[in-house]
Amino acid sequence: MDRHWTNLFSDLDVQVQADAPLGPLTWFGIGGRADALVNPRSPEALAELLRRCLHNQIRVRVLGSGANLLVDDAGVEGVVISLTDPSFASLEVNTEGGIELMKVGAGHDLMKLVTECTRRGLTGIEGMTGIPAQIGGALAMNAGGRYGEIGDAVHAVAIVRPDGELRVYAKSELNFAYRHATLPDGVIAWATFSMREENPVVVRARVHEYMAYKRSVQPMSNCAAGCMFKNPVDPAQNQRVSAGKLIDEAGLKGHRVGKAFISDRHANFFTCEPGARTNDLRELVQLAKRVVFDRTGLALETEVVFWSRHGDGS
Ligand SMILES: Cc1cc2nc3c(=O)[nH]c(=O)nc-3n(C[C@H](O)[C@H](O)[C@H](O)COP(=O)(O)OP(=O)(O)OC[C@H]3O[C@@H](n4cnc5c(N)ncnc54)[C@H](O)[C@@H]3O)c2cc1C
Repeated sequence: MDRHWTNLFSDLDVQVQADAPLGPLTWFGIGGRADALVNPRSPEALAELLRRCLHNQIRVRVLGSGANLLVDDAGVEGVVISLTDPSFASLEVNTEGGIELMKVGAGHDLMKLVTECTRRGLTGIEGMTGIPAQIGGALAMNAGGRYGEIGDAVHAVAIVRPDGELRVYAKSELNFAYRHATLPDGVIAWATFSMREENPVVVRARVHEYMAYKRSVQPMSNCAAGCMFKNPVDPAQNQRVSAGKLIDEAGLKGHRVGKAFISDRHANFFTCEPGARTNDLRELVQLAKRVVFDRTGLALETEVVFWSRHGDGS
């Protein structure tokens, strides 16, 4: 693999940081470095960047706002793409046959989008209130909760494929499931959402209600990433059960490994103190999985995405 990143991409409209620390770009605030962090300054530069990575067999990962990501202490190989350039944060609203279609760049901040939709009197995504994400990260995870999922409002998603081709996929070609989306390989560039007009006062009232609920049940601190685990399906009940409740009932609330610990407010929130290592969190995750499985026979699956040189996953 060619490690002369600056040379490899020097003629592209991208910003390259070699040996870039990723921890500060995630909500956990911990973890190692990427061989290169690359910020394309245009969709065209993103397409050519992907083409070159494919040609040079360079591993590519995409970073959103880092709210659901834990990076290994040893960092990751290859290129991490970040869509922070304003060219990826566009917002357009068009009316087509009475349906409001909103086109949003993948780098747009989700919470700012909720605020903007509220101001304009557009309903459809306010169920995402209080979820930190870029639009790309929210789509990749099908972010959501009690008040819906982002996939509910999707009309189409545009993805720059590894060969640099931009393809637009209708919602019917994609699969949005519980905290997971089956999407073609590549980088989400933008998406369109089906919205409806509604009195801004009514939309704002819902946003306040949803935020109040979220504050009442979740610790909204830094150094965490929302829920660590997905709620597993209990075959006996044929429905999902709360992973937080299972961890709580296993007596693990407040349990600590090194400088990482399970929140004593919400047992599915894993958090850490300054100086923590990703390995501390990994051990805590393994412990929770083991103890819950031994007690209940239910296998916990992480919702948080782990990046590592040995392969991504949990
Ligand atoms: C305090 C707090 C509260 C939270 N509450 C909730 C909640 O209520 N509901 C919920 O669902 N989640 C919640 N989360 C988790 C998190 O907000 C979501 O998972 C969110 O969707 C992550 O988006 P992101 O942009 O930060 O993605 P990242 O964490 O940066 O990345 C997550 C995944 O998305 C991929 N990705 C990111 N951008 C792109 C792109 N452009 N193209 C392709 N793939 C991409 C990444 O490669 C990675 O696999 C919470 C997190 C925190 C810190």
